[in-house]
Amino acid sequence: MKICPQCESGYPDKLEACPIHGVLLSEILELRPGMLVRGTYRIERKLGKGKMAQVYLARHVLLDEPQALKFLSPELSHDQAWTQRFLREIRALRQIHHRNVVTAGNLEPAEDGTLFFTMEYVGGADLMEFCREAPKPFDVALALDIIRGVALGLGAAHAVGVVHRDIKPENILIARENGGVTPKIADFGIAATREQTRLTNTGTALLTAQFAAPEQWRGEPTDKIDGRTDLYALGGVLFEMLTGRCAFEAENFLGWMQQHLHTLPPVPSSIRPDLAQWRGLDDLILCLLSKDPKDRPPNVEEMLNFLDGIKQLPQEPKAAAALHAKSSGPMEEQVAGTAQQDASQRHTHRARLVDDPLPGIEPPPRDSETGRRDSAAIVDIPQSQSRRRLIAFAALAAVILVAAIGLLIHYAMSNPIGAQVLTQQQDAILAVNFAPNGLEMASASRDKTVQFWKVVGSRPLGKISALVSAMTYSPDGRVLATGMGDFSVNLWDPSQSAVLATLTGHTGQVNAIVFSPDRHSLATAGADGTIRLWDAENGTAENTLAGSGGSILTLAYSPDGHTLASAGADMSIRLWDPAQGMQLRQFQGHTQPLNAIAFSPDGQTLTSASDDRTIRVWSVSSGETLRTLSGHTGAVTSLAFSPDGRLLASGSADATVRLWNMNTGAVHVLNGHTGAVLSVSFSPYGYTVASASADKTIRVWDVTSLHN
Ligand code: AMP
Repeated sequence: MKICPQCESGYPDKLEACPIHGVLLSEILELRPGMLVRGTYRIERKLGKGKMAQVYLARHVLLDEPQALKFLSPELSHDQAWTQRFLREIRALRQIHHRNVVTAGNLEPAEDGTLFFTMEYVGGADLMEFCREAPKPFDVALALDIIRGVALGLGAAHAVGVVHRDIKPENILIARENGGVTPKIADFGIAATREQTRLTNTGTALLTAQFAAPEQWRGEPTDKIDGRTDLYALGGVLFEMLTGRCAFEAENFLGWMQQHLHTLPPVPSSIRPDLAQWRGLDDLILCLLSKDPKDRPPNVEEMLNFLDGIKQLPQEPKAAAALHAKSSGPMEEQVAGTAQQDASQRHTHRARLVDDPLPGIEPPPRDSETGRRDSAAIVDIPQSQSRRRLIAFAALAAVILVAAIGLLIHYAMSNPIGAQVLTQQQDAILAVNFAPNGLEMASASRDKTVQFWKVVGSRPLGKISALVSAMTYSPDGRVLATGMGDFSVNLWDPSQSAVLATLTGHTGQVNAIVFSPDRHSLATAGADGTIRLWDAENGTAENTLAGSGGSILTLAYSPDGHTLASAGADMSIRLWDPAQGMQLRQFQGHTQPLNAIAFSPDGQTLTSASDDRTIRVWSVSSGETLRTLSGHTGAVTSLAFSPDGRLLASGSADATVRLWNMNTGAVHVLNGHTGAVLSVSFSPYGYTVASASADKTIRVWDVTSLHN
């Protein structure tokens, strides 16, 4: 473009002199502050540069209003694909009318023919800058408000068939309005619209590595991409606002791709522990960041329902102390490094705990200048009086200590862990399992149904009519295997509730089903005393392991898949080599039948639960009983390890679930069920335990606090 040095109007490149002033025009590469475009827009300054365009702040000279002008970069103006993309952006933007999306104006050619369009000017920072300047850690309620606004804007875009495809903090502008902040979505530069579904697929070169969804990395065609792609990115944005770091971390493009496609994001509250006080927040973020779009909320409306369900739990004094204790851990230091304000708050809190006098005891007076306790005041007391006082003080302290310990024990026993109660089935719930993605669960009831659940919000999904005696998901979550009333085994596609295959061979009830960790084999066992090994891909029978003394009630694969353990009515545990089809060892010690066995995630120990009310921890290599866990007052029916192996959950006929800390020996009793607990399952993230009971309910317990 050329510019007249006198009137600062822009002119086409082919002109030599200003037609009004006659002076020679000078050539410019960028628009300059003060220059006039189309005789209407006085350029004030450059606002930024995107992938294909430059954005300027200008003043409409007749309206005397600020406007943002987006110019297609001159070097791309001759490129057909970029011009089309630019046109698509303005066309998409003009269809959306929402306060959370920047309002589009007109499309015009500048004097030199370069295309530009006008937009509402958003005066604030973009979300990236906004977060950088906000006090750390970022206020949760504010983050949720901003995300709500962005979601509403996305909802308006999705409603007219526009998917943004590049949601990230830089594309969310923060307007300061009426004393509050309003997020506005900008840059629809790679948006997909209904009309162009057959036209383009946005190649990976245009993706924003930190936020692009797995389906974008897979290069799926545009017609396979819908609003859930934006919800994935929105989950990433929320993750970053709250934790100060990206959900994934990688060094290069391939690394990012790998992470988005195959790695589960960390649980946000494991990075910033106080997020655990917001019930449902971790779940929402993890749900948005699901690899499979099917596991994300189906649309913005559903996402907002989840968001509305997030509640800040009242902070009990103990919870506050626990949080405070956590804050001195290494995890917290990571957040505290950038969080001065928060650190100073914690500091104040810590100082208060130290300074608080014991109730009923007058603290020694403080030095009026230094504020220190005046120790001289104690030294001046005559000795006998001082000794009496000391004895009285010690006695009082001892009484208070005993009372405090009593209170703590009472508190620990009185079940401060919250649970959601799920009631949909009409009879005892025999089994409950988390799907490997942690977002869904299945529960089998004696009422002849298998109910599927969305974990976030505890919503019932579909149902299968079937009487199921045992149940498990395949490690990839694509298959649900169930033992059926007619002694067969069904393999289901849980997403369709359709039977994929039926395996027949057992001559008694199937009590146990496990997939090998590599998901290629399936082992089943039951009342006929046999273990059957099947090819899990095509359902063909591969081997039968006989020789167990009576009904088999439980099976477990070692984490490396080389050993299969079985146990049941004969009160012993047998270890098998499934590849060779032979028994390796037998452990004995329980005095009644065994109902459940579980390998620790490191494969070193095996844990067994019995009708004799005990749990035994065995060394896999020596077969010795390393520990016996006693406390249940009824038969122990079920066991499940947390993924890190620190917590063991056990369910019992005494209607309780116990959580055993395998490192410290501490035990936590979860009360609430009114009938025998028949099955327990740990979520793959380790922060939730589900228990199924004869009382016809499932309880989903939030055990986050036990990870401290
Ligand atoms: P874009 O090419 O749309 O990503 O825009 C580049 C930069 O210009 C953005 O990062 C914003 O900082 C700025 N920008 C874009 N649109 C506007 C607007 N409507 N109001 C204010 N600044 C904007």
